Amino acid sequence: MLEVTVLTAFPRLFVATVDEGMIRVAREKARLAVHVVDLRDYSDDAHRTVDDYPYGGGAGMVLKPEPVYRAVEALRAQGRAPEEFIHLTPQGRTYTQADAQALSERGSIALLCGRYKGVDERIVEGLVTREISIGDYVLSGGEFAALVIIDSLARLLPGVLGTFDSAESDSFASGLLDGAYYTRPEEYAGRRVPAVLLSGHHEEIRRYRRREALERTWRRRPDLLRGASMDDEDRAYLAELARREPGRSGGGKAAGDSDEGGS
Ligand code: SAM
Repeated sequence: MLEVTVLTAFPRLFVATVDEGMIRVAREKARLAVHVVDLRDYSDDAHRTVDDYPYGGGAGMVLKPEPVYRAVEALRAQGRAPEEFIHLTPQGRTYTQADAQALSERGSIALLCGRYKGVDERIVEGLVTREISIGDYVLSGGEFAALVIIDSLARLLPGVLGTFDSAESDSFASGLLDGAYYTRPEEYAGRRVPAVLLSGHHEEIRRYRRREALERTWRRRPDLLRGASMDDEDRAYLAELARREPGRSGGGKAAGDSDEGGS
């Protein structure tokens, strides 16, 4: 069971979201618990204030240290001190699937959602064990980043995804991007499903999918290829792609590109 405690001034953002999709499934299977702590419950004034003006002036407000420290004290007093206290911030290290895998193996984590201009730095100095960014852009609050992280963890917890829907074939799990998928009908808008997928030949389908994943990664995210585990057949296929289209790798998907049908 992974226990995730979210510290936020906007707890209602979690009400519907944790009751849907894989987060709901993980909670129902008792693999995940999500505790949402309202920082306003730890404010010490009648207006339940959690922010204040920044010293030195400037626009915007700052999340005060006291409510966060008090909330953490309360968790400790309940015997629920988290193993990791994570601050969500655009200044953190960019979150990856490898981070998701590592966090999913923890027993308990806390996610601190900043708001306004950010949090008082003494929170970071005194409580935070790790800072995570979900990408190089600025959100108005850490709640959306927390939900991204919770969703990515829920689907990695044992027994949450069915074997068919396994996370192992998803992008990044093996270091590659995932390939293309098709469902019925066999032909739509003049486009046919690749014949090999209808063939019933498991080994040919496996090879086709592997080549698809290699080719997509080669075209869209060649930086990932360095860290991916590959066998001789994979390397031979990448060499064939490079021969076919010298100077092509490193692109990203441009309009009109077709990278389906990798064999
Ligand atoms: N002044 C901060 C800065 O420039 O680094 C940005 C503050 S932002 C408007 C408010 C809050 O949203 C942050 O404290 C953080 O919790 C959250 N946030 C914004 N962008 C984020 C990102 N890319 N990843 C994770 N959290 C983010």
